Amino acid sequence: MYLKRLELKGFKSFPTKTDIIFKEGITAIVGPNGSGKSNISDAVRWVLGEQSIKSLRGDKLEDVIFAGTDSKKPMNYCEVALTIDNSDEKLELDFSEVTIKRRAYRNGESEFFLNNKSCRLKDIKEILLDTGIGKDGYSIIEQGKVDEILSPNPVNRRKVFDEACGISKYRYKKQEAERNLKNTKENLERIDDIYLEIE
Ligand code: ATP
Repeated sequence: MYLKRLELKGFKSFPTKTDIIFKEGITAIVGPNGSGKSNISDAVRWVLGEQSIKSLRGDKLEDVIFAGTDSKKPMNYCEVALTIDNSDEKLELDFSEVTIKRRAYRNGESEFFLNNKSCRLKDIKEILLDTGIGKDGYSIIEQGKVDEILSPNPVNRRKVFDEACGISKYRYKKQEAERNLKNTKENLERIDDIYLEIE
């Protein structure tokens, strides 16, 4: 499984459609200061579901959309598509290539697509669990992540090991089951109240 392609349109400093193809092995992105190198890694995190605009170095949601220059009008939406080679089927999907796409509009609306089918952020999160790729995965090592791994706080360090060992998925499912149990319990209590009122 490896990152094969990144397509950007209207994302930060990339107003026109930009296609970046990654070959197997190491790819380095070089360029002058301010040319958009970090915007490319921001795009990867954003398409994987990053919700915190601060960690994408912005203040408000629309800061990820091309804001315009003297010669180019601002865009009304932005789109990032990330294609993963899945020939080893590490992602539990029956496709040899998986494309995750996210689109956002200035009014704050955001949409996700999995192989061009509309889906929820939750679906993306679930297929990426335990692969190390998700927005909290260890495949993107930013400065804060190094601190997290080296941190004396065992809870933070454990999160990284859980993801690598394939435990995150079960932790996530357990939390979801606990949430469902809590909701069901509350619903049962409500039904009891209604019974009492009727009797
Ligand atoms: P450095 O080497 O200094 O770290 P860099 O190559 O990583 O730089 P980035 O930080 O990726 O550069 O890009 C910064 C540029 O992106 C700035 O010129 C900034 O104006 C531009 N930029 C960021 N957000 C937007 C936006 N929403 N619309 C247009 N341009 C943007």
